Amino acid sequence: MARISQRVAAIAESATLAITTKAAAMRAEGIDVIGFGAGEPDFPTPAHIVEAATEACREARFHHYTPSPGLPELREAVAAKTKRDSGYAVEASQVLITNGGKHAVFNACATVLEPGDEVLLPAPYWVTYPEALALAGAEAVPVPSTAEQGFRVDIAALERAVSVRTAGLIFVSPSNPTGSVYPAEEIEAIGRWAAERGLWVITDEIYEHLVYGDNTFHSMPALVPELQDRCIVVNGVSKTYAMTGWRVGWMIGPPDVVRAAANLQSHSTSNVSNIAQAAALAAVSGDQASVAEMRAAFDHRRGTMHRMLDAIPGVSCVEPQGAFYAFPSLAGLLERPLRGRTAATTLELAALALEEARVAIVPGEAFGAPGFARFSYALSDEDLEEGLSRFATLAEE
Ligand code: PLP
Repeated sequence: MARISQRVAAIAESATLAITTKAAAMRAEGIDVIGFGAGEPDFPTPAHIVEAATEACREARFHHYTPSPGLPELREAVAAKTKRDSGYAVEASQVLITNGGKHAVFNACATVLEPGDEVLLPAPYWVTYPEALALAGAEAVPVPSTAEQGFRVDIAALERAVSVRTAGLIFVSPSNPTGSVYPAEEIEAIGRWAAERGLWVITDEIYEHLVYGDNTFHSMPALVPELQDRCIVVNGVSKTYAMTGWRVGWMIGPPDVVRAAANLQSHSTSNVSNIAQAAALAAVSGDQASVAEMRAAFDHRRGTMHRMLDAIPGVSCVEPQGAFYAFPSLAGLLERPLRGRTAATTLELAALALEEARVAIVPGEAFGAPGFARFSYALSDEDLEEGLSRFATLAEE
């Protein structure tokens, strides 16, 4: 008899694991590897947030269990922040505080999906979505997009993927891994289309504050009120406030869905660490100046990354519009000599880049997009330039 349940054994091993493990082993040997794999800001958490957590540690009321859906004052603050930042008016009772945005994705899938449901997943997609869907018994149906379309899906692509079993759509803008940002009219069209079909939409807004140039963030349920009864927003403090380690996120949804998800959470993780919740409260309701500072730094690096990647023969990169990732096509580097070796796939190319140029990148295979790779620009300007210079030498004749 199998020792591991079928459900858990079916969870795919991360396509990036081999590269990450190898990069770590090289670093342990003292080799200086520059990593473009980071999915998190490299800045420390702003001081006033850390201070709020320090104070919370001294408060005895935080030393014990608190309500599992979240501290009432944080649920209120998240509702107020959602109105402030997205123009979406919700009650505190519609907010469930979770252990990061990732946990919100899992809770959302588990709460509204049935075994056998299909869920449309614009590709390239973040690796966690298909696994969260599968654990809920549902199936991801990738909806392809191309670099030429700026990695945004349109209604025609959604129409081609929809079936009688389609129960929902996962939407994310700005996107990990592509850095694409949908304009308001496209979000509205997609939201209306989903509402007309009675689909659930899980919309991931974790990168809402990281948009550059003329791009602006828009929240689907704010643009499409008729969707609100079937929409779950996923968000959190990780990316906006450099707080990935604190593990605070949330889901916002219709009251019955949030009540049910809170019930689920009460039997699994209970309340999120009170100290981390106090920090998140300071983050969402305190001074927002650090958000703009970090965004400006990312924007500068975005320019460097796009310029340097696009200048490499064989690499072509759509200018990223949001988040902190570039997603270039490396197809022109495949099947040609690179330091006397060749790579047939981006998975092989990532291994080659690590061994020959000491740079770690995430191959597109991890996101359902072979031929591409994800380069994070959440690293210092010096490392960014040095790492890209190293990568560029691979393509030199
Ligand atoms: N959503 C997207 C698209 C992400 O890229 C991430 C993190 O990488 C998350 C959600 C979850 O972040 P966290 O669980 O740290 O809040």
